[in-house]
Amino acid sequence: MLEALLTGKQKALREEVRRYVKSVPKQLLLDMDADKIRYPREYVTGLAKKKLLGLRFSPEYGGRGLKWVDEIIALEEIGVLGMSLGCLFSLVSIVGEALDVFGTEQQKKKYLGPLLKGQIFCAEALTEPRGGSDFFGATTTAVKKGDYYILNGQKRFVVGAEGADIFLVYARTEGAAGKSISAFVVERDMGVEAKYIYGLLGTRGGGAGRLVFKNTRVPGENLILGLNRGADVFNQMMIPERMTSAAGAVGLARAALELATKYSDKRKAFGRKIREFEGVSFRIADSITKLDAASTLVYGAAVTVDAMGSTGYSRRLVSEAKRFATEAAWEIINNAMQVVGGIGYTNVYPLEKMLRDARLSIIWTGTSEIMNLIIQHEYYRETLAPADKVRNVEEDAQEAHAIDEKIYE
Ligand SMILES: Cc1cc2nc3c(=O)[nH]c(=O)nc-3n(C[C@H](O)[C@H](O)[C@H](O)COP(=O)(O)OP(=O)(O)OC[C@H]3O[C@@H](n4cnc5c(N)ncnc54)[C@H](O)[C@@H]3O)c2cc1C
Repeated sequence: MLEALLTGKQKALREEVRRYVKSVPKQLLLDMDADKIRYPREYVTGLAKKKLLGLRFSPEYGGRGLKWVDEIIALEEIGVLGMSLGCLFSLVSIVGEALDVFGTEQQKKKYLGPLLKGQIFCAEALTEPRGGSDFFGATTTAVKKGDYYILNGQKRFVVGAEGADIFLVYARTEGAAGKSISAFVVERDMGVEAKYIYGLLGTRGGGAGRLVFKNTRVPGENLILGLNRGADVFNQMMIPERMTSAAGAVGLARAALELATKYSDKRKAFGRKIREFEGVSFRIADSITKLDAASTLVYGAAVTVDAMGSTGYSRRLVSEAKRFATEAAWEIINNAMQVVGGIGYTNVYPLEKMLRDARLSIIWTGTSEIMNLIIQHEYYRETLAPADKVRNVEEDAQEAHAIDEKIYE
């Protein structure tokens, strides 16, 4: 994060999170990466004890009432721990958003408070085996029967499929075309079965699995926002989903870059420190520029969401931040491995794990292609909206009047 953008309070928050990050045992990271731990509840409760979960949410429920600009500062630090622990930190922010913004008083008391206190654990169940990008094609159904909804279907790749107590689930409900998805809080005990836990390239230890809903009875009071309002919930939730991925990726990339920078100041080749070769130091220069660009874009998106909420413009910036930061992280970590050379490819250094972790960030919470869909869609909308506030540069061409030559079809 650019130092000049931080207030004194934000620097203090950063120090606080850094202290927590330093206290996380290395063995936890190793055991998760080795799939010995599938869901580290004690890590989440540790965060809760320090009141670090759901920083944006109201103090009434255990949050700190902070803003997105504060949360990304915390997330960048947590990102240093890798994608899995970053994700478990973020899930409270993601699922909590739906409860905080749209939840009833009863839902907030029953779920948001205990989540922030680390008494229960949450997951988001959006992706289906038939696809994640085409969210609106969801096939999981929820049929009203008396005071309950009966859910049938499957969700895939749910972090916390093993380990979570409550799931935010989107399902198709009876409604007009394009408006027939609803969001529910579903407790595991209501009849959620984790059928398959995936073997992953990286980002291990989060219990990512496939969920099956078979006549799962969910009380009507667990509907979020209202019947067929799932699209509104989804649009709001995509902000924390993507902001958290972006900010976490910045932290992970920063850690890799620092490691490679220090290494290049020690390692010698041809009788000189390798940082003295432009091939190495310019690679570092390239990475630090990318990192600062990513961090600034994430910060800009956070300021925008804080000021404007969930608008098309904010969604564009959040999507840009998510795509740019996650792709930059992948390139920066890859660059770091190149600087460190062969030993960087081994488990003597953590770069190989960072690289495995980072790859997922370009896929989950919406792929780069889906980010591009949103970015171009919103930008076309803004640019093509009637307005004559800016100079029409088209008129500046010498032959601008040659309208017979301006042929579009
Ligand atoms: C380890 C892991 C953890 C995850 N955690 C969660 C979780 O906790 N909760 C959850 O709900 N989901 C989770 N996901 C799912 C993740 O968000 C999806 O994998 C992702 O959104 C992509 O969906 P998909 O895998 O079905 O790919 P698809 O949607 O099938 O896409 C396949 C490819 O086609 C491209 N594509 C699709 N549509 C278009 C288009 N219109 N234009 C251009 N390209 C397109 C995609 O970009 C991609 O490259 C997780 C995934 C993994 C691997």
